[in-house]
Amino acid sequence: MDFDLSREQMDIKKAAREFAEKEFPKIARECEEKEEVPRDLLKKGAELGFVGVFIPEAYGGAGLGFLEHALILEEFWRMDPGLGQQFCSLTFGSEELILFGTEEQKEKYLPRLTSGDALMGFAITEPDAGSDAASASTRAELIGESWVLNGNKVMIGNGSLADFILIFCLTDPDNPAKSHRHSVILVETNTPGYEADKILGKMGIRAADTANIFLSDVKVPKENLIGERGKGFYQLMAFFDRSRAYVSAHGVGLAQGALDLAIKHVKSRVQFGQKLAAFQVTQFKIAEMATKVELARTLTYRVCSMLDRGQVDSKLVAMAKWNAGRTAVEVVDEALQLHGGYGYMNDHDIERFYRAAKVLEIYEGTKEVEKIVIARRILGRF
Ligand SMILES: Cc1cc2nc3c(=O)[nH]c(=O)nc-3n(C[C@H](O)[C@H](O)[C@H](O)COP(=O)(O)OP(=O)(O)OC[C@H]3O[C@@H](n4cnc5c(N)ncnc54)[C@H](O)[C@@H]3O)c2cc1C
Repeated sequence: MDFDLSREQMDIKKAAREFAEKEFPKIARECEEKEEVPRDLLKKGAELGFVGVFIPEAYGGAGLGFLEHALILEEFWRMDPGLGQQFCSLTFGSEELILFGTEEQKEKYLPRLTSGDALMGFAITEPDAGSDAASASTRAELIGESWVLNGNKVMIGNGSLADFILIFCLTDPDNPAKSHRHSVILVETNTPGYEADKILGKMGIRAADTANIFLSDVKVPKENLIGERGKGFYQLMAFFDRSRAYVSAHGVGLAQGALDLAIKHVKSRVQFGQKLAAFQVTQFKIAEMATKVELARTLTYRVCSMLDRGQVDSKLVAMAKWNAGRTAVEVVDEALQLHGGYGYMNDHDIERFYRAAKVLEIYEGTKEVEKIVIARRILGRF
């Protein structure tokens, strides 16, 4: 077994870290307050090659893998979770196009993402269909040569910024099998009937765009179907097997960033006549936090590396995602504790990291859903 990153992977990680260290700190707090990220920063990141590295070279990507994508996201989240999230969501859903799109669809849409000229999103969640995605009721009817979509999606990344968005929708409501009723359809957001309502005041990662979407008689060509009609649910599961792997890197990055902040603080803060770092209880906390981060990192890299070698293991991916989310929440909690009251004030970065962490146990499958996936693979279905 080889647990080492290649020279190229180490270089990518280092370059991502240098970019984030240079660009993020000066604007992170302002982006969180204004709830937006300057487009020129996203464009700059894309031009430097940090967006969609897993997209094949034929479609403008670097032709690398999910491990390289994860390394970049880890470093971005380490410096600022909100900016890291916005960079991640630029290509969110492109995996679906790569896996199931036609040649024309890939050529038309993917190069615009890696050049930073377009943003996308993947809209699955609805008011009455969250963890139970197969209950999605947004309807798409094939009328003549067009799909006509009606419905409501909630909490969608890039909902108000995306140039095009994938909609998980109901195309075959009469199919007796619940898992054969849905499809994935691409909607260009300038199509009449598409409306987005940006959500303001999220608990954390406020810099990243999230919106509710309303589709009212949105008419798109029938060629905008991605993959096979009625196979949307299976395509969605294939997407989650990939997205959950690199979302684990969000947790690793956030936890490492929180640990970095805690180390800096305990090495400078003096109480009872000595640095906090001199108390053995502090040393034990730092040791435990660092160990948790390393464990989460190891599993994250493993599942990403497996995907890049063509091995899809939904159970391990779910383990990585659940563990990384839990690690982030636990490590940031301890990191804030080590800051004392200062950590509770919003002029200290740890407060922003603390608010950001919780989402990692909710989106891309809640921690309970991850455990359902894991247990089902171990025990079978009951
Ligand atoms: C910042 C942010 C960004 C998001 N971005 C996107 C996006 O880009 N695209 C998108 O489609 N969605 C997005 N979401 C939505 C996210 O995927 C959902 O919030 C998530 O899937 C959970 O669905 P829900 O909120 O409806 O919770 P629910 O499904 O209602 O779950 C509520 C609670 O019940 C538990 N629960 C549900 N079912 C079971 C069960 N069978 N067994 C045990 N426990 C269960 C859950 O684990 C959870 O604890 C985003 C959410 C957030 C917060």
